[in-house]
Amino acid sequence: MHSVEIRNLDLSFGGLGVLKNLNLDIREGEFLVLLGSSGCGKSTLLNCIAGLLEVTNGQIFINGRNVTWAEPSERGIGMVFQSYALYPQMTVEGNLSFGLRNARMPKAEIEKRVTRAAEILQIEPLLKRKPAALSGGQRQRVAIGRALVRDVDVFLFDEPLSNLDAKLRADLRVELKQLHSRLGNTMIYVTHDQIEAMTLADRIAIMRGGVIEQLTSPDEIYNRPVNKYVADFVGSPS
Ligand code: ADP
Ligand code: MG
Repeated sequence: MHSVEIRNLDLSFGGLGVLKNLNLDIREGEFLVLLGSSGCGKSTLLNCIAGLLEVTNGQIFINGRNVTWAEPSERGIGMVFQSYALYPQMTVEGNLSFGLRNARMPKAEIEKRVTRAAEILQIEPLLKRKPAALSGGQRQRVAIGRALVRDVDVFLFDEPLSNLDAKLRADLRVELKQLHSRLGNTMIYVTHDQIEAMTLADRIAIMRGGVIEQLTSPDEIYNRPVNKYVADFVGSPS
């Protein structure tokens, strides 16, 4: 079974097509990178999967269940944004537990999950701090932690590292890869950065103008691009 299936997806803004009859099957447990230049529709696609945008046509399945019209909270997904989207007035602990408290989870269970997430992401010493007192990399860990505590099936990342400097970006790439091996969840990761895609992905989907041009392993994309656009984009030897 596929983790996420997207069938004939159309999404228009004011009559202008942004996603065009898009089809995509994402395997259970894979790290799938959506790679494409700015404006090609990557965030729009991710927002459709997350349920933050209503699709114009088509269907989305998660773990075999049709979630096309399901609320974001009912989809078993966790989203991590470039902008972190943390609550500034709450501590790290408060940010991590917020969704669980809202869902009225028992206190002991919340504590267990927050402790585990903090350990995995190595942010235990930061639990009592507020976001303003954290570095960019630490904030991004907290943002990942918020998805982690919810025990989601699928992680969605929208350019989570693009606000960070090059060194930290490289470090966090390695950590994300380790996180993926440890958790084994399906991860869908949006970026316009070829290096990021090549180092993180099990498979890369190259997007252009609202459609997927090629979907295969980084090695195949690089060595056997389907057309000149893909070749130029990933810098294949000509
Ligand atoms: P990417 O994430 O690949 O950079 P987006 O998915 O953000 O691209 O945007 C794809 C296209 O849709 C762009 O042309 C963008 O201007 C347009 N778009 C995105 N969001 C909206 C919106 N809320 N209203 C109108 N147009 C939008
Ligand atoms: Mg985007």
